[in-house]
Amino acid sequence: EFGADEGNEDDLVIRPPVVTVMGHVDHGKTKLLDALRGANVVAGEAGGITQHIGAYQVHTDVDGEDRRITFIDTPGHEAFTAMRARGSQSSDIAILVVAADDGVMPQTVEALNHAKAAGVPIVVAVNKIDKPEADPTKVRGQLTEYGLVPEEYGGDAMFVDVSAKSGINLDKLLEAVVLTADASLDLRANPGQDAQGLVVEAHLDRGRGPVATILVQRGTLRVGDSIVAGPAHGRVRAMLDEHGVEMAEADPGRPAMVLGLSSVPGAGQNFIVVEDDRMARQIAEKREARERAALQAKRRVRRTLEDFMASMEKGESQELNLILKGDVSGSVEALEDALAALEVGEEVSLRVIDRGVGAITEANVNLAAASDAIIIGFNVRAQGKAAELADREGVEIKYYSVIYQAIEEIEAALKGMLKPEYEESTLGQAEIRAIFRSSKIGNIAGCMVIGGVIRRNAKVRVLRDGAVVADNLDLASLKREKDDASEVREGFECGLVLRNFQDIKEGDIVEAFEMREIPRS
Ligand code: GDP
Repeated sequence: EFGADEGNEDDLVIRPPVVTVMGHVDHGKTKLLDALRGANVVAGEAGGITQHIGAYQVHTDVDGEDRRITFIDTPGHEAFTAMRARGSQSSDIAILVVAADDGVMPQTVEALNHAKAAGVPIVVAVNKIDKPEADPTKVRGQLTEYGLVPEEYGGDAMFVDVSAKSGINLDKLLEAVVLTADASLDLRANPGQDAQGLVVEAHLDRGRGPVATILVQRGTLRVGDSIVAGPAHGRVRAMLDEHGVEMAEADPGRPAMVLGLSSVPGAGQNFIVVEDDRMARQIAEKREARERAALQAKRRVRRTLEDFMASMEKGESQELNLILKGDVSGSVEALEDALAALEVGEEVSLRVIDRGVGAITEANVNLAAASDAIIIGFNVRAQGKAAELADREGVEIKYYSVIYQAIEEIEAALKGMLKPEYEESTLGQAEIRAIFRSSKIGNIAGCMVIGGVIRRNAKVRVLRDGAVVADNLDLASLKREKDDASEVREGFECGLVLRNFQDIKEGDIVEAFEMREIPRS
């Protein structure tokens, strides 16, 4: 259901970028969001009262063309993080606001890291340049040190000096957003499909009942559509834009306030259009049951924690043992430091019993089996027979490539609420034995499939000495002899070309995998 195909290339139209504003407290996020919205109240569009609906759209002229931009109007990155925590990508671009009098501060760096981790391009708004003590050059220097290099210094980030208060350069900022979107993103969607999207915020209105601000990400939402939004369902009774004006439909990238839901969904939850009301109700009921079950599961864990506390009093202890393996010593240390800082309560103790750089080995698995430990692989994988051994011994290996995700999940596990929505399963591995360079189609890897199966449409990663050097890649081609193959099994040779990654070496392992949704009761 969610995340379906966009259909034919011909059906795609450009959609507006969705932008989040992030930055340190008091650097002017709220002021900037207000200024951008206020500067854009189109004359003649009156009749409605401008209202806060959690997201809005503006128009801007770029090279004589009318372009639209959608802003998520929740300053700070709460919305961003809440949505990411639910696995949904809410924004295409982040505007990082830095006050030119204050410079880069801790939350500036935090915001920068969030955006980077999400792979979202950043446009920097150097704000408060109306102030005499503003020093926009200093801000550029500081951010360069964090790897965000301004275009004028040869980097690829656009910096715009603005004043949210005096309204200086707001048009330039909008232009920078559009140019960044055009340069680094392919923002196209098919308006002909049933709508799907996200709940940005929702509340219960006394007069109007549940009111949800949604963002249409695919397809077109229309008044009269039956939708499921999180555990809520209903028929879209009316849709309002940011000026309070009624809309009949909302196209991809458009935020809208939706009336007609049965209850109040949560920020970050998905919505989909379904065939009719009956189906909407059925799906919603299932979701509700699932949420209730999840709540009960949490309660159960709380009880076992109590049991456990009782057992503590009797002198028994409860420990979660971990073995950390990472690609470089820096990441292992960072992970260990972050884990040490976790507040998990005194009743549970988190112990890192072993750590190291490099692939996960049989020795690691044996130690884990002997000490009931979980193995955390950060940018590394299991080597040789280690994965098999772990399966046999019932040792859990968890793989991560982003530190805070590892931390979040471990914390969640400790609180008894662990369940990633997707689970990865390895399909097979192929060893690169020869490389043929072709200027036309890229480097062709001559491989031997050493285990499992390599599928043409699988995701792949490249491993070198057990470490991940490139992840989540697609195959541009897969051949057996001279013919295109949909899959090649263990013991056979094949030729493959990776999309967007040419830096392969003989001896590298190409690992094919797929993501499977974890069925929930
Ligand atoms: P937030 O915490 O990032 O949302 O920051 P606010 O938008 O609340 O702004 C913090 C303070 O800075 C407020 O007093 C604003 O009036 C002020 N401020 C915001 N932008 C500007 C600006 O461009 N120039 C000046 N002089 N003050 C600004």
